[in-house]
Amino acid sequence: MSPTASTLSAASTVSAARSVPGAPPRRIVIVGGVAAGMSAATRLRRLDESAAITVVERGEHVSFANCGLPYYVGGVIARREDLLLQTPASLAARFALDVRVRTEATAIDRAARTVRVRTTGPAGATAEEDLPYDALVLAPGARPLLPPIPGMERALTLRDVADADALARAVATAGPDGGAARSAVVLGAGFIGVETAENLHRRGLAVTLVELADHVLPPLDPEMAAPVAARLREAGVEVRTGVTVAELGPREAVLTDGAAVAADLVVAAVGVRPDTALARAAGLEVDERGGIVVGPDQRTSDPAIWAAGDAAVKTGAIDGAPAHIALAQTANRHGRVVADSIMGRRAAAAPAIGTAIVGVLGLQAAMTGWSERRARAAGLDVVCVHVHPADHASYYPGARAMSLKLVAEAGTGRILGAQGVGPSGVDKRIDVISVAIRGGLRAPDLADLETAYAPPFGAAKDPVAMLGLVADNVLSGLTPTLQWHELDAARAAGAGLVDVRTPAEYARGHIPGALNIPVDQLRGRLDALPDGPLIVSCQVGLRGHVAARLLLQHGREVRNLDGGYRTWSAVRGAGAVGPEPGPAPAAGEG
Ligand code: FAD
Repeated sequence: MSPTASTLSAASTVSAARSVPGAPPRRIVIVGGVAAGMSAATRLRRLDESAAITVVERGEHVSFANCGLPYYVGGVIARREDLLLQTPASLAARFALDVRVRTEATAIDRAARTVRVRTTGPAGATAEEDLPYDALVLAPGARPLLPPIPGMERALTLRDVADADALARAVATAGPDGGAARSAVVLGAGFIGVETAENLHRRGLAVTLVELADHVLPPLDPEMAAPVAARLREAGVEVRTGVTVAELGPREAVLTDGAAVAADLVVAAVGVRPDTALARAAGLEVDERGGIVVGPDQRTSDPAIWAAGDAAVKTGAIDGAPAHIALAQTANRHGRVVADSIMGRRAAAAPAIGTAIVGVLGLQAAMTGWSERRARAAGLDVVCVHVHPADHASYYPGARAMSLKLVAEAGTGRILGAQGVGPSGVDKRIDVISVAIRGGLRAPDLADLETAYAPPFGAAKDPVAMLGLVADNVLSGLTPTLQWHELDAARAAGAGLVDVRTPAEYARGHIPGALNIPVDQLRGRLDALPDGPLIVSCQVGLRGHVAARLLLQHGREVRNLDGGYRTWSAVRGAGAVGPEPGPAPAAGEG
C-alpha cells in the first residue's frame, strides 16, 4: 500500500526540516504496526502534529486484533474484517501516518540513522529503500516457537491474520479426501493453546490438548488449573499432561508416552520468542532470551532507538528483575511510554505485574503476579489463602461459586499474586488484586477495600475482602493453616485429621482416613479427638477456621486445611472417598 498524497506531502515537508539539537525528532520510523507500534504512532501524532511518522509492517495488515484470532477460527467472530481494526488509509486519514504494509525492515545503520526496508508489491516484485530517522521505534513482537520434532513442519501457529486464515482453511480442508478436518492436536496448554483448543472443539473437531507440564495453564498453580482441565475433559477435549509430541505423522501425532492420537491438523502453541534478529544484527543490547534491553523510558542501548511490546524486556513488578511478559495491554501501555519519551515528556514504564485471563468453555481462569510455585521457587516464604465464594450474594438468583487464591509473603504480608477460576466474577476480583499489587497494598488491606455492592453484583463481604480477612488471620498467627500439598507430609508426621462437615457432606466425599466430627458437635466431643497435633478440614475452609479457633483455645495444636476439601479434591480428588463433591457452597458456608 503506498502512502496517500496527503501523508507524503506531510512527510516530505517535515523531513526537509532537519532536526535541531534539543528539538523533538522530526523523522520517526516505527517497525511493527500492531499493538506497541501503533500505540506509539498514534500517541506521537497526538503529541506532535508536524513529525513525519512512518510505520513499516511486514505483514498484510496493521492494527489487527491478535487476541481475537482464536475466536475467528472458532466462528465466534464471524466476519474476518472485524479483526482488522484499522487500515493504512484510515490511519493516514486520522493520524497522517505513513503506514506501509508488506514492508519489512531488514537492517539498521545506526551510524547513518537509516533503516533499510524492503517492500513486496502485490505481484511479488520487491523494492528497497533506506528510511532516515531521528528516532526509531522497534515493536516487532514475537515469533511462535516450533519444537524441533520430526514432522513439525506441518504444524500451524497462530500469530497473525494470515495464520488464522491458514488455520481456518485447514479446518475446512485438512480432513481425509480434502474435506473438513476431524481431529486436531494442540501442542501447549498455555493461554493461547487452551483458547485454540476450545475454538477447534467449537468447530466440531476431536481435539487433543498436549502439555508437557503436569497441568494445563502452567502459569497457574495445579489446584487452580484443575477445574479448567476438568471442564475441557467434560466437553470431550482429550487433555494429556506430562507428555509432549515425539513425532508428527501425516494424520497422527505420536506422544512421548508412545500413544498415537489422530491429528488431521496440528497447532503448535508452546510459547513465543522475541522477534529481535534486526535489533541483534544492529548491535543493540539483548538479554539471554533475545529480548531487547530497555531502560524505564523504553530506550534501548542506542539513545536514538526505543523498543516496546513482546520484543522488549520488561521489569517484573514482584521482584524488579527483568521479565518476559507478552501481553497486549503491556504492549499498548509501553508503546505510549515510547511516544512520550521520544517527545521529551517525563515517561517511565510501570513494572509489569503479568495479569492475564482466559475463557474456557464457560469458565474464566485468571491470574495476576506470581503463583505459589513461582514464589517458592524464588525462595520466598509464602502464605497462601484459598476461598470459594459465590460471585454475588448467594440469596440472589444465579449465584455461582468461584475459587480464588492469594499468595502473600510471610512476615510482610506483601501481595505476590492471585489466581481465580469460576464461571463469572473472576475477572473483577483478579483486576482488583492487580490494582492492589500496583498500589503496594498488603494482603490484610484487601479486607478494607470498598467494592461496589448490591445483591446482583457482589457480596457485602466481597470475595476479595474474604481473601484479606483470611490472610489477616493467617499472617497474624490467629489460625495456622496448611496447604493441600502439605497434608500428606503432616499426616505422615503424626497429625490427626478431623473433618468438621456434616455426616451427609462427609458421605458425599472425604479425604481418606479423616475422622468426622461436625463443627457444631465439637465442643461436646473433645474427648473423641486423637492425641497430638490436629488438622481440621471442612468444605471450603470457613468451618475449619471456627473449629481451629475452638480447639486452639482448648490448648490443642491445630491447623486448618486451607480451602478445605474443595481445594484438596481439585487435585487429589481421584483418591477421595465417595463421589465428586457437588457445587461449592455459597459465601458464608464453610
Ligand atoms: P505484535 O502485535 O505481534 O506486532 C508486531 C508486528 O511487527 C507484527 O505484525 C510483525 O509482522 C511486525 N514485524 C516484525 N518484524 C518486522 C520487521 N522487521 N519489519 C516490519 N514489521 C515487522 N494478550 C493479551 O493481553 N490478552 C489476550 O487475550 C491475548 N490473546 C492473544 C491471542 C493470540 C492468538 C496471540 C497471538 C496473542 C495474544 N495476546 C494476548 C498477546 C498480544 O497479542 C501480544 O502481547 C501483543 O500483540 C504484542 O504486541 P507487539 O506490538 O509487541 O507485537
